[in-house]
Parts: sequence; C-alpha cells; structure tokens
Amino acid sequence: MFISGIPLWVAETNTWVIAPEKGGLAVVIDAPPDVDGIAQLLIRHDLTPVALLVSHGHVDHVGGAGGVAGRYNVSAYIHPDDEFLYSNPAAQLRQLWGFELPGDYAPPQRWELLAGGTSLELAGIDFEVLHTPGHSPGHCCFHVAAEGVLFSGDQLFAGSIGRTDLPGGDYDTLMTSMRNRIVPLTPATDVFPGHGTTTTLAVELATNPFMQEFRT
Ligand SMILES: [Zn+2]
Repeated sequence: MFISGIPLWVAETNTWVIAPEKGGLAVVIDAPPDVDGIAQLLIRHDLTPVALLVSHGHVDHVGGAGGVAGRYNVSAYIHPDDEFLYSNPAAQLRQLWGFELPGDYAPPQRWELLAGGTSLELAGIDFEVLHTPGHSPGHCCFHVAAEGVLFSGDQLFAGSIGRTDLPGGDYDTLMTSMRNRIVPLTPATDVFPGHGTTTTLAVELATNPFMQEFRT
C-alpha cells in the first residue's frame, strides 16, 4: 500500500492519498482549499483519484472538495451531520476566521453521504467508516483494517486531539468517540492525522496527555 500526504493552505491541513501502488488508482482523504496543491501530490506519484473522503465539514478540510470532485469527476463523501458546516464554507470562514475564501471555491455538485459502521470499497481498498463526533457532529475517521491504517482527521493528533470549542464541538462527545471507536483498534495501527505528523495508536496511548484515561 502506498500512502503520501502534504500539509496545505494556511491551516496546514494534511491531504492524504492512498493507493494499492504508485502509478495506479487512489483515494484522496480531505481537501484543503488548495486544489492545485492536491493535484501536484497526485501528479508526483502518478496517481489517478477515484474518490474523495472528507473527515468533516470544516473549511480547511472541505474547501477544495468541489475542485477535486470537478477536476477529476469523482464522488466526494462526507457525513450529513456536518451539513451546517459544509453547505457554506465561505460563510464559515468569514464567521470563524474573519476572511474570504480565496479562489473559485464551489461545493461539489452533490455529496455522497457517509454513515458510521459502514464500509466503502474504493480503488480496491476497504475503508471502514468510523463516526467520531466531538470535534464536529459529523466527524468521521477512516480505518483500513487490512493495512492497520487510520486516517484520524481532527479526532486524534500526535500528542493532542482536535479542538472542541467550534460550533457543534463537544469535549465529552469527542472522548466518548475515542473510547468507543479509536481505543479498541489494534495498538500498532498507523495514524495519519488531519494536522501534524504521523504517529501510531500505541504511541498516543502511551504518551498523549488526552489519552491518559485510557491507559491500563
Ligand atoms: Zn476541523
């Protein structure tokens, strides 16, 4: 399995690509509002995207979704509980961050809606959809069990967790998601987060201050 990523836009949000091999079909995970940046990552590894999975509706993950879906004519997936966020990323940006979305953002023509506990087969890869509300109500992580890989979005970072002070965020809900959906995964799971460096679940269980209550 081939996985590569790059931090994009002012929020340095990671976009990830996963493919059975370089030079083949790929799935894009999260779309910061820098479609050219995402395209360059795909070109660098000679990848052809077949779908876009979006972890949640914050503009730094969803702002490029329409551009990716349109440029490559692929389906974009997101959880419907974040509709109040992804339906208007420009307003979200203005309200929360105080500036206009640059470029020609347009949302995807249509969204494919994610549901927790389901699986998706894309580019020959099985993704288990883990609904992990807390950072936002519709936040999802994507688990590739066969490879021991978790795309954790803004649920879990190396050494930290996603903030819960934005609209729809809730700390207790995030920690319940952590206990029920993340902690039970194999400790050796490689974690590819929405911001910052990669890590493993074992390292986070041992050292992340927010995971202290899950240590045995
Ligand atoms: Zn976020």
